[in-house]
Amino acid sequence: MSIRPIRLTNTLTGKKELLETLESGKLSLYSCGPTVYNLIHIGNLRAALVADLFFRFFRKAGFQVTFVRNYTDVDDKIINRARQEGVSSEEVSKKYILEVEKDYAVAGLLEPTHKTTVTTHMAEIITMIEKIIANGRGYVVDGEVFFSVKDFPGYGKLSHRNIDELEVGARVEVNEKKRNPLDFSLWKPAKPGEPFWESPWGRGRPGWHIECSAMASKWLGERIDVHHGGEDLVFPHHENEIAQSESACQKAPFVKYWLHSAFLTLSKEKMSKSLGNVFLARDFLTQYSGEIARYLLLSVHYRSVIDFSDEAIENTLTGLQRIYDAKLRAKALSQIKRAVPDIRAESLWGEFVAESEKTREQLMDAMANDFGTPEVLSAVFQLIREFNRISAEPLTQATPAAVLGAQALISLLENDLAELMGIGRLDPEKALADISRVKSARTGGKILPEQIEALIAERKAARTSKNFQRADEIRTELLEKGVEIKDSPTGTTWEYR
Ligand SMILES: [Zn+2]
Repeated sequence: MSIRPIRLTNTLTGKKELLETLESGKLSLYSCGPTVYNLIHIGNLRAALVADLFFRFFRKAGFQVTFVRNYTDVDDKIINRARQEGVSSEEVSKKYILEVEKDYAVAGLLEPTHKTTVTTHMAEIITMIEKIIANGRGYVVDGEVFFSVKDFPGYGKLSHRNIDELEVGARVEVNEKKRNPLDFSLWKPAKPGEPFWESPWGRGRPGWHIECSAMASKWLGERIDVHHGGEDLVFPHHENEIAQSESACQKAPFVKYWLHSAFLTLSKEKMSKSLGNVFLARDFLTQYSGEIARYLLLSVHYRSVIDFSDEAIENTLTGLQRIYDAKLRAKALSQIKRAVPDIRAESLWGEFVAESEKTREQLMDAMANDFGTPEVLSAVFQLIREFNRISAEPLTQATPAAVLGAQALISLLENDLAELMGIGRLDPEKALADISRVKSARTGGKILPEQIEALIAERKAARTSKNFQRADEIRTELLEKGVEIKDSPTGTTWEYR
């Protein structure tokens, strides 16, 4: 099958490039996963959702995708945590892998082809380090193996800096064994009490970067198509992955397309565990929902920073409500039993069905242009506006054509938007109930201004048509919800009591 042209912004070249995979029709995708020493924060969830978005789109575009996502289960942070809790490192990492998987499941992430861990790839890691040493790019000092950055001519090509600039800028740990401050550990000797593995250089454990090189080459081959991670991984992690893989395998480039997703900020400050301003994914998913998280984190382009603010949450709730309000009306229309044909309705709905076919293509085109999720959503909203306009006319409602129009909208939401972004699949009654629960929790149980305005408008209409009983009912209902209204010659005002 022919696959539509796909353009990706490649960090390696700094350009938007046409995707050409190593093997036609197949695509290998690797994404750096979390270090499992506690619950993930919402910024980690964003990175995982972006990788999931790539996976979903590449599959829908027709590729046979092999997607690998790892868990870093050997690390200083895990060892420290294990000491604090008086348990083994293995217990800590096993526990948090399960916890992270719970969050991923709630957020609707698809299962990758392979989920890998460092501890199950020690043989591959050791073999790769041996190759790096054999190829003259690694050296051993007292049981520790270092990568020799000066011996790798391409070092700095991903972060677009040369070795001299990097040496000045790097916060390099002081280690007198290193020949060059930028050299990094491939293997470190175990300190007393730390977990260790046997190796040709003695008991120890791998440095952080080597795991991704070893796992990518085991499951995807010596060269891969797409590698993803958060933008904080460009240097040194991904720079070092390139140095290791290209030195061990002597093939370049290790990765054809490097894609990096942006940070999440909280009040414009980078969210990070070290700054302590983290919002746990678990808290968000419990307080809101998986779909609300997906919308919030995917409605912004993956390369743009998201500021995690009240406004962003409001926009998310409004967007989802618009989608499910339309889906609810579509569901009602599609269930109409006694439909009467009407020529005008047939023509309007006929155009709508054709429009929905066009929208389907627009969604794929937007995704093919560097995963343009904002454009995906705006195309969906454009179609929803059209649906709302046509279905608002009474004549167009109870006709066979309306059933087809409603089915077209439902199909676009469930088969296209939901497959691409994981949004729109829920039953509309349930989704709307969830949204209103979240909204009312946000206002502390108070009725929202837009709901108050709607009731005031209804009351005004009731009074105009001399239905004073209904008008009084509305005043009482508002009072019960803690809202007092005041009539004056210029109109009706209200306030929370
Ligand atoms: Zn990695």
